[in-house]
Amino acid sequence: MRNLDSTRRNSFDFHKLIVDSKKTTRIDPDYKTRLLAIEDEMETLYNVYQINFDRNILETTVANVYPDNSKDDLLKLYNYKSKLIQTLKSEITTTNTQRIINTCQNCTLSEINSFDHILPKEEFSEFVVNPLNLFPSCTICNSYKGRFWQENGRRLYLNLYLDKLPDSQYLFVDIDYNNDTFGLRFYLENRSEINENLFTLIESHYSKLHLLERFSRNSDKVITPLQNKIRPYIHLLPMEKIIEMAIQTANLNRNVFGMNYWESILELALINNENFIQSLSH
Ligand SMILES: [Zn+2]
Repeated sequence: MRNLDSTRRNSFDFHKLIVDSKKTTRIDPDYKTRLLAIEDEMETLYNVYQINFDRNILETTVANVYPDNSKDDLLKLYNYKSKLIQTLKSEITTTNTQRIINTCQNCTLSEINSFDHILPKEEFSEFVVNPLNLFPSCTICNSYKGRFWQENGRRLYLNLYLDKLPDSQYLFVDIDYNNDTFGLRFYLENRSEINENLFTLIESHYSKLHLLERFSRNSDKVITPLQNKIRPYIHLLPMEKIIEMAIQTANLNRNVFGMNYWESILELALINNENFIQSLSH
């Protein structure tokens, strides 16, 4: 899991671009006119969002109330497959070195195939195409999240544009290895004095998105390749050297994919497990 840089675009300009891209249809010839009529109101709301985003207090944002059908009109602005939304996605997920981050950072398990609306679009339709409110996500995370994003004024999910992830380890895994079968238990623990509020938010994020169970279910995609990576070297290098190399690789991956990247955390736990290492020799 790693932080992503939010877009450098002007948010409200993006809203206007989307409105502008809407074609007048015979079924609803006034759609664009209605959207343009509420543009000033939208600009004010976008300014409030920007202020709350800059201060990382989005949970204090109050949803706008619409006396007419504006809510439905706004909701229709968003279409994941539309060209502008896809362009925005590639801008956010392309790194400075032109690598594409195609994995959902909310879970680091599945492919990005949607945008999560940080403030849910049903409640905050005004921000349905606000680029600062759109976080690239997989549909599994998106569907777990649904409409519930806060409880008693506290956010339930990390905002990976704004909540700076700790650079210390908080994800751990216990391994019970017996006769080639693995029992794995991923868990979170605050061993390095991570800010209490941030750690609570991390716990909530992992729990609501079922990340610990999802890591366990995906563990074979780490265990088998690691076994196969090590086995060819067993008769070529001393075991200590092999272990040292495997640890270095896992730590290099953590630099790129995040300090608490579950695959690296699992690899390190396996490498440090005597039963696992012994099993490689036969
Ligand atoms: Zn995901």
